[in-house]
Amino acid sequence: MPDPIRVRFAPSPTGYLHVGGARTALFNWLIARKLGGVFVLRIEDTDRERSTDASTRTILDGMTWLGLHWDEGPVHQADGLARHQADARRLLDAGKAYRCFCTPEELAAKREQLQHEYRYDQKCRAIPADQSDARAAAGEPYTVRFRVPDGVTQWDDVVHGETRFENASIDDFIILRTDGTPIYNMAVVSDDIDMRITHVIRGDDHIPNTPKQILLYQALGAPVPAFAHLPMILGGDGKKLSKRHGATAVGDYAQLGVLPEALFNFLALLGWNPGDEREVMGVDELVQAFSLERINKKSAVFDTEKLFWMNGRYLEHKPADELLALVAPLLVKEGLITEAEAEARRDWLLHLLEQLKVRARGIYEIPKMARVYLAGEVEYDADSVAKQWKDPATAERLGVARDALQALEPWTVEAIEPALRAAAERAGVGFGKVAQPLRVALTGSSASPGIDHVVYLLGREGALRRIDRARERLAAGTGV
Ligand code: GLU
Repeated sequence: MPDPIRVRFAPSPTGYLHVGGARTALFNWLIARKLGGVFVLRIEDTDRERSTDASTRTILDGMTWLGLHWDEGPVHQADGLARHQADARRLLDAGKAYRCFCTPEELAAKREQLQHEYRYDQKCRAIPADQSDARAAAGEPYTVRFRVPDGVTQWDDVVHGETRFENASIDDFIILRTDGTPIYNMAVVSDDIDMRITHVIRGDDHIPNTPKQILLYQALGAPVPAFAHLPMILGGDGKKLSKRHGATAVGDYAQLGVLPEALFNFLALLGWNPGDEREVMGVDELVQAFSLERINKKSAVFDTEKLFWMNGRYLEHKPADELLALVAPLLVKEGLITEAEAEARRDWLLHLLEQLKVRARGIYEIPKMARVYLAGEVEYDADSVAKQWKDPATAERLGVARDALQALEPWTVEAIEPALRAAAERAGVGFGKVAQPLRVALTGSSASPGIDHVVYLLGREGALRRIDRARERLAAGTGV
């Protein structure tokens, strides 16, 4: 048996969990599940100024909500400081790195002079080791720079294919600051070696770091992992996805009523596809179908419309009792029902949700849709009224429906439509001529679940009361 693959998600806890970060986490998670590998979570908190515990919590909560459970960690990068330093020292001792005594002022002056042409002039590269040791021992401040060798650094990127950088284009970069703390690339490589990471899967904004990191692996004598750089995520206008495009935090979508399984599915399709027409795919199906080789090079577009469409498909298939657990607190919060009523009317609420869930695109739409079944008053939609009540015979047809419902026995959902059809037939009109004005009378709108369910959910008394109110409006001429 080959060793299991080991992948990691390495967020910096300096803000919320961005959907792009979540997509990176998700691709790592998927490939770990698919190949029976290990998914490690590492919190890159070496930037003490910008890292916060609150941000770490938000990231962990977002991952947990999405179902991205990690097998190891969270490991805090800051805890690895001594090892990062030891690795950098090893490079220094082996002559693969050197002390740079240039002062910040000196470097700033050169940078000022050369502007974007600026490169470190390698002034301290040539300082003999004994002199360098002596200056350090005397307390002179220094940074440690990596001695970039001649040649070319290349790798076969799983997504982008053969990628190469001339080493001459890479500055002798700093690996330890004057205060002895490691620079980002040093800490990442030291950690990835320590964690025995086999595949580094991350956003393609990291491509410029990769040659430096590969040089560090080689210098430290460690095997170089495979790299897969994920395509960028764009907004609908083709620009890099940002707050300008709307919500970009996983938590925002949770607030907007998106189900975690829907966001999971949607993110999996950002820059990857199964190679066939499938779009709505559950977690197990995604794990089955996933492969790094099918990740696109091209940027992916974050299409919010598609996300809500997909969410609608997940809502439609979610069992009503699971949905009720999410929706009941919202109904209570909106003052549409009390907790005790929600308990007592559980079966009725389940019936209602069965009807509403196929029409909602987000959980938060459901209380709005449920209002008409829970509130005493109907709010009439002017367009629906104008369209469905314009026939002068409307009041009479509502009367026909009223009589049929008043007399209906037994009061079951199955009996309602046949009774209304028979009544329409007796009145000599098609079923729609009764059902449509009735729908507006009962719900205020011409879009609703099936009329049989609407009537049943309102109950006989409620339905008759609304018909009476509609007929009063029509009689008073306020109907149309
Ligand atoms: N901490 C880095 C980031 O949040 C990720 C580093 C990596 O994946 O190598 O962008």
